[in-house]
Amino acid sequence: MTTPAPFVTTHADGRTLIPGGNVFRPPSEADSLLLQVSVGCSHNRCSYCAMYQGKRFAIRPQAEIEALIDAFASQRPAPSRRVFLCDGDALILPQARLVATLTYLRKRLPWVQRVATYGDCRSILRKSVAELRELAALGLGMVYHGVETGDDLAMASIVKGSNRAEVIEAADRLREAGILHSVIVLLGIGGVAGSERHAHETASLLTRIDPPYVGALTVTPVPGTPLWDAQQAGTFVLPDPFRTLEELRILVDEAQLTACRFASNHASNYLPMRAELSRDRVAMLAAIDHVLAARDAGMLKPEWLRGL
Ligand code: SF4
Repeated sequence: MTTPAPFVTTHADGRTLIPGGNVFRPPSEADSLLLQVSVGCSHNRCSYCAMYQGKRFAIRPQAEIEALIDAFASQRPAPSRRVFLCDGDALILPQARLVATLTYLRKRLPWVQRVATYGDCRSILRKSVAELRELAALGLGMVYHGVETGDDLAMASIVKGSNRAEVIEAADRLREAGILHSVIVLLGIGGVAGSERHAHETASLLTRIDPPYVGALTVTPVPGTPLWDAQQAGTFVLPDPFRTLEELRILVDEAQLTACRFASNHASNYLPMRAELSRDRVAMLAAIDHVLAARDAGMLKPEWLRGL
């Protein structure tokens, strides 16, 4: 789902502002300033996720957040025009805190053109369209949302904390508020048994919510997670790389999206792609079919080059 990025910022007196460890951000936010407004994830229960293991969720004091922004403001030349709010679900912050943070960002970093964050159904649906509009007016331009699957059964089994109907409602609210919705789906998360259903249901959900950005990642069980335990116990059987490509083919073939940048170029994927889905569908399908016909593992990204 994400790429780790080391993030330590210090005051002039050398005091570390960030409590160490890695923070996570989407690959497309590689050049953004990472502003850690909260620590960990308030849900922290998704069965496949090890990102915030051992991190207790907390919202950072406003004074600390403003000190971080001040540190960015003092950098010369002026740093990135984009800011990414960390950690896992920064949108869960109370509206007043988000408004205060975005307002201060605007005041101190007037050159910033877009602020983005992770969000999920819980955090998006806590906010009304009017509140989301207020955040959009203050610069919040994109929410990255790990939807993972359109299949309610799979969503429940991975303890996503949301369902298909809630994803639709969240997508509608973001669209109404004028905030871009970048949706992440997870190839393989239905296991072998649920693979086809996961792919078809995810394609139909994407068609319904019609996001401008979709990123497909490939699930990789991580030791210490419930998904890993399920795999060890034999209750979750991980689809092989070619089966995940068949899922990708179903998504590309069936998702009818108005104008969507579709990417499967995350480090976890076996066949990196990046395209405008409607325009490039035929070429994408041909590339996938070529690999599926050959069934040659040499055409896939080797395991040692894959990452989470
Ligand atoms: S909501 Fe995101 S960060 Fe939190 S546990 Fe689930 S996948 Fe991990």
